[in-house]
Amino acid sequence: MLRFYIAYLLYLLAKLTIMTTLEHFNFKNKKALIRVDFNVPLDDNFEVTDTTRIEAAKATVLKVLEDGGAAILMSHLGRPKAQEPEFSMKHICSKVSEIIGVEVKYVPNCVGEEAQEAANNLEMGEILLLENLRYHEEEKKGDPAFAKALSQLGDIYVNDAFGTAHRAHASTTIIAQFFPEAKCFGQLLAKEIESLDKVLNNSEKPVLAILGGSKVSSKITVIENILDKVDEMIIGGGMAFTFIKAQGGSIGDSICEDDKMELALDILKQAKEKNVKIHLPVDVIAANDFSNDAETKISDITAIEDGWQGLDAGPNSRENFDAAVKRCKTILWNGPLGVFEMDTFSHGTIALGHSIAAATKNGAFSLVGGGDSVAAVKQFGFAPKVSYVSTGGGAMLEMLEGKTLPGIAAIAE
Ligand code: AMP
Repeated sequence: MLRFYIAYLLYLLAKLTIMTTLEHFNFKNKKALIRVDFNVPLDDNFEVTDTTRIEAAKATVLKVLEDGGAAILMSHLGRPKAQEPEFSMKHICSKVSEIIGVEVKYVPNCVGEEAQEAANNLEMGEILLLENLRYHEEEKKGDPAFAKALSQLGDIYVNDAFGTAHRAHASTTIIAQFFPEAKCFGQLLAKEIESLDKVLNNSEKPVLAILGGSKVSSKITVIENILDKVDEMIIGGGMAFTFIKAQGGSIGDSICEDDKMELALDILKQAKEKNVKIHLPVDVIAANDFSNDAETKISDITAIEDGWQGLDAGPNSRENFDAAVKRCKTILWNGPLGVFEMDTFSHGTIALGHSIAAATKNGAFSLVGGGDSVAAVKQFGFAPKVSYVSTGGGAMLEMLEGKTLPGIAAIAE
């Protein structure tokens, strides 16, 4: 499985250097149909509250325009059940114009006569934003007729939506078949693949993976898949307690998956056989309630009293993790070390962010991926201080699990 995965990543990289990147196409007089990920958060006034995903698409759109082409942007926004107006792309049109620096036209459908006419009338140098793809249930179903209708809007298909690359939807995967000779990754998607390769295959040793978050069960395949790739692994956050309890520790009321304890022991055994150094927290910030205002105390992680739960890494754990981070040259971080959403339990995650920022400054390559760790690095201001912040939560995890993402395969094939 792992060998196949490595071979597949190498194959993807080879493809990246051959024909599948944006740089290999000249868009002069061409209309690029670009699948972007503009699934951005909106407030009650429909203002975009986090523009990261729009900014991430800018380079690809500008390359098309600078070549002398036109860009047709398609995305989903939220999870509409029908054509609910709150999920309309028209809310984000002015923000996209502002960020890209070119006025963006909007059409209130993504297929059909109106969309086709808007695409036909688009002049070179212009940008058109299509209405929410998920206003049509055919999008998520991967309907070929819907994909074909979309494909008729442009000359070259560009997939730059890493966040949805793990879905075989019409606009992310099925559509590629209608562009056998004219499809490529956008700059963002290419960068995601390259960054992951830099961590898993072309990494400078020692390689460290930091896995946190709440559950072992959601990260188990990731852990097993990357054990062959790393020299050291920090297992922190809520999932550490399953490992501690499995080894006989008393974890009080801390979160634990009893049915995964055997698996945890097996992972520790595998790690030993593979010579991977595992770092578990040695102490925690224990709380008498799952609340920011709870009473807290530092506790040995193997001796947490009943009525208390570990909600953050303790000072000795932070020190150990800092040492591991600083001796490694390649660092992958997925999942917070504590309940960082509450100030009281955010300090372990913040300390780790500082350690990774310092290691990066000293030349290490650091990649942060997965929803909550990305939220944490942004919230605490570490995003500019790490080498790369992945834009895809689920997609990133699936790549780390060794899965082939359909959106990527559809371009690479
Ligand atoms: P995941 O989605 O599995 O990456 O988990 C992220 C969530 O794990 C965050 O919302 C954290 O609040 C939570 N988390 C981290 N550490 C703990 C802990 N010790 N106890 C309970 N939840 C935790």
